[in-house]
Amino acid sequence: MTNVVAQRIDQDDLADRVVAAMRLHRSPSYPRTFEVWYAHLSGTIPALSAELQQVLDGGGFVGATVIDGLYNRYLATERLAQEANRTSSQILEEIAGLTRQINEAVDASELYHSEISALSEQGPASADRTMLRKWVETLVLSTRSEVARKATLESKLRDSAREISHLRDALETSRIEAQTDALTGLANRRHFEERLQACFEVATSDGIPLTLVIADVDYFKRFNDDHGHATGDQVLRLVAHTMTEHMVDRAVITRFGGEEFAIILPDTNLNDGKLYAESVRQALLKRELIKRSTNEKLGRITISSGVAAYKLGDTPTSLIERADQALLAAKRTGRNRTVTQDALTR
Ligand code: GH3
Ligand code: MG
Ligand code: MG
Repeated sequence: MTNVVAQRIDQDDLADRVVAAMRLHRSPSYPRTFEVWYAHLSGTIPALSAELQQVLDGGGFVGATVIDGLYNRYLATERLAQEANRTSSQILEEIAGLTRQINEAVDASELYHSEISALSEQGPASADRTMLRKWVETLVLSTRSEVARKATLESKLRDSAREISHLRDALETSRIEAQTDALTGLANRRHFEERLQACFEVATSDGIPLTLVIADVDYFKRFNDDHGHATGDQVLRLVAHTMTEHMVDRAVITRFGGEEFAIILPDTNLNDGKLYAESVRQALLKRELIKRSTNEKLGRITISSGVAAYKLGDTPTSLIERADQALLAAKRTGRNRTVTQDALTR
């Protein structure tokens, strides 16, 4: 009892701290803000806390962009994963119910058969018409109830089969959603990590090349400031679309976070990785952006990319770090360019 009370006080205290933090950092007052601050202050998602702490340490203002980014990256996918788990256990329950029904039906059917064989072994007690009718009636009743049981079972089985197929579809949908970035429709960070790990295993065991590109939109903060967040979102969709259009065989294009994209290129060497990044950069550079609603010219979007290829002894983290270093070099040397890991050692 005392524990429950203590827990309640802790929770109330946490809620007060969440509200105070939202006010102090001028976060927008909508439900997902509360969820993000709550996750941070309760320490339930260390990666979210680390990211938010970085913003706080940098004296950053925890506005809608930061909140939305953290929410999309950590909480939305978390919720979808929970949903997938819930659907799986519903399927298991449905299957357990189905198994129960089948067992009951088998038992009932065995009972019917033993009733029938008992009756036929006995045969009509005598040739007396009344006795004969009674014997036939018992046989008919027993058969009728067996037929009814079979019909009920059949309809229950049909309902269960429908329900299971519906749950299977729901599970598949939430599995896909849990791996997808809602804004761009690309694979999200969670899926990126899974796929990079899988590609790494192939690269290390079979010695097949593996290249990673990390691309980042240049001066995107300024673009948002000048044209608004919603137009910025459209640009992110355009970048995603362009990357997909130029996609090479088996590439895994993912939204790495914010205005950063990571592309895993299995069976691709450093130079081909660079060619891919360059083709996306050139395609974006050619497009003059025009706001549909007003015909306003918004200029051009450029991206900078860093490219790294798997080397013996690499881990997924060291490969990401090298691509990131190359990206930083691209930013430092003027942006709107692609830099490979080779430029780093020189
Ligand atoms: P740099 O050339 O050095 O990359 O400059 P930058 O302004 O692009 O980089 P910075 O990291 O300073 O800012 C990134 C901006 O991306 C800030 C943030 O508002 C914006 N951003 C991140 N995620 C989203 C999003 O989902 N939608 C929109 N519209 N903007 C986003
Ligand atoms: Mg940028
Ligand atoms: Mg960035």
